[in-house]
Order: sequence, then C-alpha cells, then structure tokens
Amino acid sequence: MANPKIKSSAQIAKKSNATAGRKPAAKSLYSKADLEEIFRRFSIQRPEPKGELEHVNPFTLVVAVALSAQATDAGVNKATRALFAVADTPQKMLDLGEERIREYIKTIGLYRNKAKNVVALSEKLIADFGGEVPRTREELVTLPGVGRKTANVVLSMAFGQATMAVDTHIFRIANRLLLAPGKTPDEVEQRLMKIIPDEYLYHAHHWLILHGRYCCKARKPECERCVIADLCRSPEKTWDIPAPLVELPAQVIGSEAAS
Ligand code: SF4
Repeated sequence: MANPKIKSSAQIAKKSNATAGRKPAAKSLYSKADLEEIFRRFSIQRPEPKGELEHVNPFTLVVAVALSAQATDAGVNKATRALFAVADTPQKMLDLGEERIREYIKTIGLYRNKAKNVVALSEKLIADFGGEVPRTREELVTLPGVGRKTANVVLSMAFGQATMAVDTHIFRIANRLLLAPGKTPDEVEQRLMKIIPDEYLYHAHHWLILHGRYCCKARKPECERCVIADLCRSPEKTWDIPAPLVELPAQVIGSEAAS
C-alpha cells in the first residue's frame, strides 16, 4: 500500500504548509505548488464561475438551495421560475400558502416536505430576523430545511463569503483525487478550506462543482478532457496529458442530465 512517491509528496505538502506558517497540514497528496497550479488552471477555465440555481435575492436563494436537496439544479430552476415570479419575499410566500407552493414545486423530489419547510422558514425569517436572511452560519442553520451545506452556499452566493459547501460532486472529487479525503462532508470541507490557496478560495467551490459535473463525472471521469490530468493523482485516472486550457462558459444550465 505504501507508495514512496506518494509519501514523498505528502511530506512536501506538509512541509509547504508548515513553511507558510498559517495552515496546518491536511491529508492531501498535493504539494502547495500542485494546488496553486490546479486552481490557477480552473481560474483560467472559468474566470467568473456562477452557481446554477436561479434566484433574485438572498431569500429566493435560500429557498432554491433548500429545494435542491436530492434534485438537479435544472429541475429546481424549472419549478422556481414561476414560484419566485409570484413570491420573492417571506411574506409573499406565506400569503401564497403551503398548498399553492406545493403545486409550484410538485416536480421536485420530496416536494411535500419541502413545501412545509419553505413555509416554516418564511415564518421564522419574519418572526426572528425581520424578514431578512441572516448573514451568519449559526443563524442560517436555525432555519427549517437549512443545513450547513445550504448555509455555506447562501453565505458565498448571497453575501460574498469564501465558504466550501460540500455537495456530491465536491465530496467525490476530494476523495477520488485524494485532494482532501474525508469520510464526511464536514471533514472534506475542513480539509479543503485548509489546503486551497487563499486567493482561489472564493471561487473554489464552484470550480470543483463544475469540474465534477462536466468533466470528473461520477460514473466515468473524462480524463482526456481534463485540464489537470497531468497533476491528478487519482487511481481512477485514465489519461496523463492535460487538455488545452481554454475558457469555458461560467455555467451550463440544463446539461446535468448528461453527467
Ligand atoms: S484526470 Fe480524470 S480523475 Fe483526474 S481530475 Fe481529471 S477527470 Fe478526474
């Protein structure tokens, strides 16, 4: 199991982090230089990555993210376009009522429970936060249907904070590439936050999601199309030559079915 080459890289990574004096070493197989290069390439590929969930304000973002559990972003967008046109504030959502909310979102998995949560979180926003979406993780997770991942997405997309919301794509990539291996999303989140260079941290969440969704796919990674194929240390890698570094669309709505 011991691989001298891999061990040596882990040691380099540890040393680099120690030298930087700001971040403890995480169990990543990548050196500081590797990490800089990986995220530099992602930054050239997608200079301004965007989330794919449509929303018009922080409130509709919270609702969209809460609805997206076990559903595709494209599927959520289809349902929320009409919903947010009539209800883009907690009060309007309450005025609409649970039954009509259910009608709007019935194409989304677990919609009955999610409709309940949308009502409950709207009530709580009005009762405890003056109808505004709070700006701290501690407050956000008190909202019904909002967990740590949702809170991280909202902090990043609505309030510009560098967070790492570990979804299925990020969890897979972190483990498959041995980038930030962890048994739980929280473990992966902590490790990624430690190893990703500061200057790339804000966009890293979207870069990793989009890389996982469109290139390093769940069933079969498309290594021939991968811009970090030379740096990748995944045992699943099938190709060593990096794909040409060209700018891609910031987001690709509706293509998830292909992933
Ligand atoms: S080389 Fe293959 S396994 Fe590695 S990141 Fe790229 S697509 Fe994923």
